[in-house]
Amino acid sequence: MTAGDTIFALASGAGVAGIAVIRVSGPHAGAALRALLRGPLPVARVATHARLYLPAASGMGPAASGMGPATSGMGPGGGARGAGEDGVLDEGLVLWFPGPHSFTGEDVVELHIHGGRACLEAVTRALAAVGPLRPAEAGEFSRRAFENGKMDLTQAEAIADLVGAETEAQRRQAMGQLMGALGARYDGWRSRLVGLAGEVEAAIDFADEDLPQGLAEGVFPKVTALGDEISAHLADGHRGERLRSGLTAVILGPPNVGKSSLFNLLAGREAAIVAATAGTTRDVIEVHLDLHGLPVTVADTAGLRGALEAVEEEGVRRARARAESADIKIIVLDARDWPDVDPAAASLIDGDCLVMVNKIDLRDPRHTPAETLYIGDGKSKTAVYCVSAKTEAGLPDALERLAAMARERLGPGRSAPLTRARHRQALEDTLSALRRIDPGKAIELNAEDLRLAARGLGRITGRVDVEDILSRIFAEFCIGK
Ligand code: GDP
Repeated sequence: MTAGDTIFALASGAGVAGIAVIRVSGPHAGAALRALLRGPLPVARVATHARLYLPAASGMGPAASGMGPATSGMGPGGGARGAGEDGVLDEGLVLWFPGPHSFTGEDVVELHIHGGRACLEAVTRALAAVGPLRPAEAGEFSRRAFENGKMDLTQAEAIADLVGAETEAQRRQAMGQLMGALGARYDGWRSRLVGLAGEVEAAIDFADEDLPQGLAEGVFPKVTALGDEISAHLADGHRGERLRSGLTAVILGPPNVGKSSLFNLLAGREAAIVAATAGTTRDVIEVHLDLHGLPVTVADTAGLRGALEAVEEEGVRRARARAESADIKIIVLDARDWPDVDPAAASLIDGDCLVMVNKIDLRDPRHTPAETLYIGDGKSKTAVYCVSAKTEAGLPDALERLAAMARERLGPGRSAPLTRARHRQALEDTLSALRRIDPGKAIELNAEDLRLAARGLGRITGRVDVEDILSRIFAEFCIGK
């Protein structure tokens, strides 16, 4: 991977589509476009309807025929003078973004062509033949944008998140990050740290000179305050990370209570095998739900019981493992057994549970209390939802509760939450460096920890240059040397 290369790739999705977009970036992008147009470059940043031609044998040189963008009013099949019908690869819109005012900061060309496989083949083959161009590697356009200072690392990550966003809340979070909200927070903190590091470095370097007394001491309360802010930011219940990856909910309960039936209702399709014999769901099956914009992945599991066969035993083991790692447990019980609760299921009930008593249609209505049922002791009572997978009675209320639980865990918190384990790790490193700083220690040790803390923050946005700590000293302290 070389930054000076000119790269190209399909920017739109794979598969047959009406329109496909090919993006080219690098120093040869303009020459490649001229070769394909067999003419001059179109006006910068203006969509221009044009024909794309098989490049002349001479390759990258300016085209001899002088055929420009197809704005002459020639209809399809009108013939291309000097090129012949066969020379036309496709027609579409071309865009020319001369650097640095482009996504990558380099010269960029976008070709909006017909989306058929053969059109794509023909145009990409022509691009590869036209000169020193090569197919881009994964993420290479965004990487160049980052390297050319068009965005920080959190914004590059936001592009990936935006492309992968499945629900409205995920889209909003990624968009906020792309707009720079997260990067701005980390850069703000880093900038404060660099300033503090500058003060301490100055106190070391100019110890014998007339710097104000106790200058470095003034740094400590500021370090503590910044540490507290970072610590509060970290204690967000992993909201941003969970929204990014989606909450996980797992359906648990004794065999044959209707777990798979409820799961299928949630999935809106026959995703899990529903059977009248106990113990049919031996593996874990998942469905992704969009609950009022919040992503929840629900997993169906094998029934919780002492397994009869080895395969099922493995299923039960996986169910328990899932229960431990899930954000929400959906516990299903059989209405005919109520209020007797299976001890294995009862042992799982806590504040992260949605309890559904299923098959309410099979219970004599006279024995079904109208008021809300609760389970658990006085302190940690959990509401129980009476439902029927068969008649779908009670399901809307139970789903509403599930959405409310998702909202409690993911809903709008403070702005710009941290969204990746990478950010968390770097912030934890920063915080531990800050917490090591102590007025009782040698000033050089404190200076080193400040540097490490600033570097931790710099790792998040991709600004890792410690040299600028030094330049800050001279810029801000007016030492006059
Ligand atoms: P699982 O083992 O807990 O996953 O249970 P299944 O979903 O496989 O259901 C077991 C049996 O109960 C099947 O025959 C279902 O058709 C039946 N069943 C599930 N939910 C209901 C319900 O709400 N009412 C009635 N009458 N039968 C149900």
